[in-house]
Amino acid sequence: MAADEGGVLSGPAYSLLAGGRIRFVTDSDDERFMREALGEAKDALARGDRPVGCVIVHRDKIVARGSNHEFTKKSKSEHAETSTLRSCAEYLFEHGDDCVIYTTVEPCVMCLGSIVMANIRRVVFGAGDPERGGTQMYEQVEYVRRSLRNGYVGGVLGDESQRLQHAFSESGSPSSVDAPLLQKIDCLMLNVADLDAALSFYRDRLGLPLAWRTETGLAFRVGESELVLNKGEPTEPETDIMVASAEGAARRFAEAGGSIVTGPFDIKIGQCVVVADPWGNKLVLLDSTKGLLNTDADGFVVG
Ligand SMILES: [Zn+2]
Repeated sequence: MAADEGGVLSGPAYSLLAGGRIRFVTDSDDERFMREALGEAKDALARGDRPVGCVIVHRDKIVARGSNHEFTKKSKSEHAETSTLRSCAEYLFEHGDDCVIYTTVEPCVMCLGSIVMANIRRVVFGAGDPERGGTQMYEQVEYVRRSLRNGYVGGVLGDESQRLQHAFSESGSPSSVDAPLLQKIDCLMLNVADLDAALSFYRDRLGLPLAWRTETGLAFRVGESELVLNKGEPTEPETDIMVASAEGAARRFAEAGGSIVTGPFDIKIGQCVVVADPWGNKLVLLDSTKGLLNTDADGFVVG
């Protein structure tokens, strides 16, 4: 966008400062502040929240920063923009019309409404959000368009923001309902009284190839999966299923109407969580985020 109906220059190249002074702002200024917002988004991703970050800038200085907390605060409305606006409400009360908000994803209608009500006159965002984003609101609500007289600008480092969204989807977020949550049956686990006898039974007599062994267990390859035998009293067989992220999968299970029984907790190769479907069937979900086991020539696990 180059100019709005009022003839005021807007878009990535210009910003109107208080007093009607038009000041040239290079694209690199926008990118510089968007990078700061992306840093916030990365923090959110690391915590397991939706990776959206934002900074509020007043005369080339960042006055507030924040990110999405939907999952950690268990609140659907803890968006990066609204919580950052709240964190500097008094400052905005004085200087809002002279501030720019940079956000890594196009603000939703709730956030765009809050931005306008906080008197901010320019919005710069990264990736567009055709479904929840405020473009339609910007285009159709005259008050919103008039309020954002210094610009509603998208696409600044949008690809980087998009990459973070993909990383979040792949980690098993509730938003990625299209991605299959369960990647493969990792293993079927049984208890046996004697590991040496079990080795001779399963490997020597039944021909199963040994995958690995420790002092307390051994595993055979069964196609892509493993049959794991632990030393112990016989119990119900346990089925372990591999997921990209046990934590993300637990969240998604709960979100979908299942429940979390135990965990997530650390295991040698990553994290593990026990969940139950709505009918009480328990599933053990694990990820290999710490890497797979190494074995020596005899199949003993060495690290
Ligand atoms: Zn929002």
